[in-house]
Amino acid sequence: MAMFRWWVSWALALVIAAGSTALVVKSAAFPDRSWADLAGTAAARIHRAAAAGWSTASASRPPDRNPERPFPGDSVQAPPTTYTLRAAFEPDTHRIRGEETVEWNQPLPNPVHFYLYPQGAGGIHIRGVRRDGQSLSFHTQGEQLTVDAPGEGPRRLTIDFVTDIPTASSRYGDLDGVWVLSYWYPILAARDGRGWIAPPEGKGFGEPYVVDTANYRVTWTAPAGMTWYASAPATSDAPGPDGRTTLTMEGQHLRHFALVGSARYQNTTLDLPGGPRVHLGLLDPGHQSRIEATATRAVNTYRARFGKLPYSDVALVETPSGSTFAQELPNLALIDVDLWNGLMPEQDADHWTAHELAHLWWYNAVGDYEGLTPWLDEGLADFSAYLYQESRYGPTAYDEAMNRLATWFKEGRSYSPGDPGSPLPSAALGATDRPYADFDTEWQYYVLEYLRPVLMYRDLRRSMGDDRFFRWLRTLYEQHLGRVVTAAQWRESLKAAAPDQTERADLWLDAPNEDLVRRLDDAGDLRFGRPGP
Ligand SMILES: [Zn+2]
Repeated sequence: MAMFRWWVSWALALVIAAGSTALVVKSAAFPDRSWADLAGTAAARIHRAAAAGWSTASASRPPDRNPERPFPGDSVQAPPTTYTLRAAFEPDTHRIRGEETVEWNQPLPNPVHFYLYPQGAGGIHIRGVRRDGQSLSFHTQGEQLTVDAPGEGPRRLTIDFVTDIPTASSRYGDLDGVWVLSYWYPILAARDGRGWIAPPEGKGFGEPYVVDTANYRVTWTAPAGMTWYASAPATSDAPGPDGRTTLTMEGQHLRHFALVGSARYQNTTLDLPGGPRVHLGLLDPGHQSRIEATATRAVNTYRARFGKLPYSDVALVETPSGSTFAQELPNLALIDVDLWNGLMPEQDADHWTAHELAHLWWYNAVGDYEGLTPWLDEGLADFSAYLYQESRYGPTAYDEAMNRLATWFKEGRSYSPGDPGSPLPSAALGATDRPYADFDTEWQYYVLEYLRPVLMYRDLRRSMGDDRFFRWLRTLYEQHLGRVVTAAQWRESLKAAAPDQTERADLWLDAPNEDLVRRLDDAGDLRFGRPGP
């Protein structure tokens, strides 16, 4: 029996606020914040960027800040871009065969750039590129596809591709019969005021991705008998004569389009009053009551605090033992089954489930270029998970968690899920508002992009008071729903809501870590003026 899920199609009622074009000048507190340091790391990438014809946006903000010019990473793409994907999933050969038509609605510079994210054991092989039946020449290099599309042709391209699927415990691949398929097709590159944005190279941790929101219509053919969870609900499910089933899925304003499928899933549905419908894909049915309790409280807390999700259906799925710990994909939250099995004693399943569900608001509904501003989605998602704790376990639990995190931060302790609270090898970590490319280690990434923003939101909340603080977060959410929010827009939003808080936020985002630590008193409050010794 086919077990494809019939997700009810739902008309999206997105209110897309016009993105702010106002630019925020860098922190007054740190006018020369590490431009020189960053220039070093930027220089190492310039040859790569220049050789490939990318913008150097992934490096950092340029020293020649010009208020007339958008910051690197400020998207200039006019939405929506539309993808029509027809794909056949072939587990026997570990391949996806696909045809993709991408349409956009403004002229693009030639050549047109695409991202080919899966590298290493997997990879996207381009078989051909067409424009209205005419073959176009193209070139692939690493994660980059460039298509020569000269002249005023139609604003659409069709790409034939074959994607290899590795057997891997990674973000992309097959492990023990569970297929996590993300970034499996060519993605039209994002652009800022300087050109096509180069995605940073992956380093084995975090998310080095840069992706614009788009509309999707996906026709997916796969062997019958598998349960699929995807970034959009299915609108039809047609069994074929050959033991295969074809599923059609449609979604608007999606970060990208991912699927997770297996014949092993036990599916159950959590229908929350006020939405969304949460589809639970369980590998261990014994986890159901705990996962439902966390998901119910987390989703209800976030909806009340930030606003309603513009999606009818989302999914929370378990991944096999030994897979990537936990991760967010569009309308999908993934959790390693071992987290709930208690096989990762230092890793809190309740917290990280709430964290991944919070990404439905921050990353998914309100996106950011993760490769350029990891602190933006990770900081908000992780702080949200503590709001969930507060809602479920009470204000004392929230205060205790925040005091513990402030102590770890001041004492230079790790926030990485694998070794929380263990001493860090260095205190010289730099600042928070910086791109993925500037990070060398996972522990540095977790301290600066997760822990420090969590403490920033705690500090802003105390300083602003709950009414003003949550009104600001609701406004930030509403204004950027269905789009990408940049660091400049985040700062502008805070300035509009609470101009008296910008200096505080600038310190949290821009100050060197040792300096920030010296400014925190015993209660974790930020002291202004000259930092202590
Ligand atoms: Zn996260």
